[in-house]
Amino acid sequence: MARTKLVAGNWKMHGDIAANQTLLNALKAGAAGSRAAMAVCVPFPYLAQARSALAGTPIAWGAQDVSRHAQGAYTGEVSATMLKDFECRYAIVGHSERRAYHGETDELVAAKADAAIKSGLIPIICVGETLAEREGNITAAVVTRQLDAVVSCIGAAGLAKSVVAYEPVWAIGTGKTASPEQAQEVHALIRARVAAVDAHVAAGLQILYGGSMKPSNARELMAQPDIDGGLIGGAALVAADFLAIGAAA
Ligand code: PEP
Repeated sequence: MARTKLVAGNWKMHGDIAANQTLLNALKAGAAGSRAAMAVCVPFPYLAQARSALAGTPIAWGAQDVSRHAQGAYTGEVSATMLKDFECRYAIVGHSERRAYHGETDELVAAKADAAIKSGLIPIICVGETLAEREGNITAAVVTRQLDAVVSCIGAAGLAKSVVAYEPVWAIGTGKTASPEQAQEVHALIRARVAAVDAHVAAGLQILYGGSMKPSNARELMAQPDIDGGLIGGAALVAADFLAIGAAA
């Protein structure tokens, strides 16, 4: 099955209204040169700005997290329906920074993916091992555990409405990229694991790579058979780099 590529930016906690506007304007101007579908996941306060800048363009927008709860006394949380109010297409869930700094468990990440799907958002579900886990030769076990928690919560039907991102933690923001072979190996494992549940869903599942992807390595990474695009941190803040990654897809 031919899968379209997706290049999604994760702005993390960067930006201000003026800088965002400059970046969004440049992305808008260059979007036509992208071979991949493009999206930016911005901090919550800038969703309205992203929507007004990007509506009517080929670039989608989304958030970097979502609550597992539909509504209620959950101070500081943002629900999926609130994100839909801002016409978000995507919500990242389970980014390693949220797992590490906010104690997010596999089960919570799965519940967030479920909440996103139920409101019509596409969760970008992040999985990936730490350096110690890779060095301990438990990459496959860790990624499988993270993925299985999601599968048992949302099933194949939910995965059909999701994107998965393989993000080795040791490659995020470090400048160290997984080699195309290292990344492909894990992407193939993810697809095989999903195929064991539903081969059709596995064949159509977009699996992004994230971890220091930049214009100089994007083409080779995205040429791998199971790498369907990128989740981009640092390089998503530089319009020329982000657009070049889209063009390399
Ligand atoms: C990320 O935060 O999802 C990411 C991949 O970051 P970077 O591209 O900066 O490694």
